[in-house]
Amino acid sequence: MKKRLVVQGRLSDAQLDTLNDLFKVDVLPKPTALDAPENRAVLAGAQGIIGSGLAITPTLLDAAPELEVIATISVGYDNIPVEELTRRGIMLCNTPDVLTETTADTGFTLIMATARRAVELAEWVKAGHWQASIGPDRFGSDIHGKTLGMVGFGRIGQAVARRGALGFGMQVLYSNASPKPALENELGAQRRELDELLAEADFVCVTVPLTADTERLIGAREFARMKPSGIFINIARGKVVDEHALIHALENGVIHAAGLDVFEQEPLSVSSPLPKMPNVVALPHIGSATHETRDAMAQRAVDNIRLALQGERPISLVNEELWK
Ligand code: NAP
Repeated sequence: MKKRLVVQGRLSDAQLDTLNDLFKVDVLPKPTALDAPENRAVLAGAQGIIGSGLAITPTLLDAAPELEVIATISVGYDNIPVEELTRRGIMLCNTPDVLTETTADTGFTLIMATARRAVELAEWVKAGHWQASIGPDRFGSDIHGKTLGMVGFGRIGQAVARRGALGFGMQVLYSNASPKPALENELGAQRRELDELLAEADFVCVTVPLTADTERLIGAREFARMKPSGIFINIARGKVVDEHALIHALENGVIHAAGLDVFEQEPLSVSSPLPKMPNVVALPHIGSATHETRDAMAQRAVDNIRLALQGERPISLVNEELWK
């Protein structure tokens, strides 16, 4: 008998065909809560769930006693109770690597847009204000030759650093749980304590995962340590930053500007002052959002769940202890 699979996320027709050939597939529309009463019958017989932004609740897990694997179409899994899944023997798969370069591109987009005030000045031109040569009040700041401080130096952090060091001749500093000697050799990157990095960097770019240790890692104390000319970039998760402290720092000249792809609450509340500030570039969580990369992420998730349900080791298994 075919195993049963629940899909809640965007897959291509070809990817759905692959799954339909192997499994009995139920596609649930995105706005529906996975654990809603109308989904209980489907969940009761499901061995796999694949999708993005999956709300994995105790109610859902209790309703799906046969669940073997969850494949999220994302690298971050801060929204998923991994320990609870492991306790229940449910594998969790994610999609690292295939989105690294695209997310790093987004990080550099924010570095460039904030430093050169690209969004603010493009809006200014669009509004018809360009009547004479611009003066120093509209100048930006250099990127090349400056110091890039990476908070988190994993796959994405290293990819941002490569762009900075090799493309823009930037000095790279990093603070990370473990040292990365290979990158120190490759890029001349230097490891620093977080406080030192904040004080020395012209650009501070956050790429740590959201965990109990990193929640609100950057707050008022940390912004106060940055240079007043410093630019803050967050492409990790909104909750790594104390957003009230960030707003205060931007409004009061504690730091110069911010480029943000992620926020404490998403979608960003219309009442948030952040997108209205001229020294902020706010993006709607587009880190990996290109056609090519979203397709590659979905394919990785399809491969993960296919392998797991066929009894083989998935490519990207988060709770590896279940395989051992
Ligand atoms: P990764 O390779 O696991 O890198 C994370 C790095 O953070 C690792 O080097 C890790 O150290 C370090 N780290 C973890 N906890 C730390 C702590 N408490 N203090 C200091 N360093 C710590 O992950 P990745 O693929 O680069 O992705 C990073 C995060 O980016 C994801 O978790 C996700 O939340 C976010 N992301 C956002 C988007 C977006 O759309 N904006 C897209 C993709 C990913 P070790 O090397 O010592 O383990």
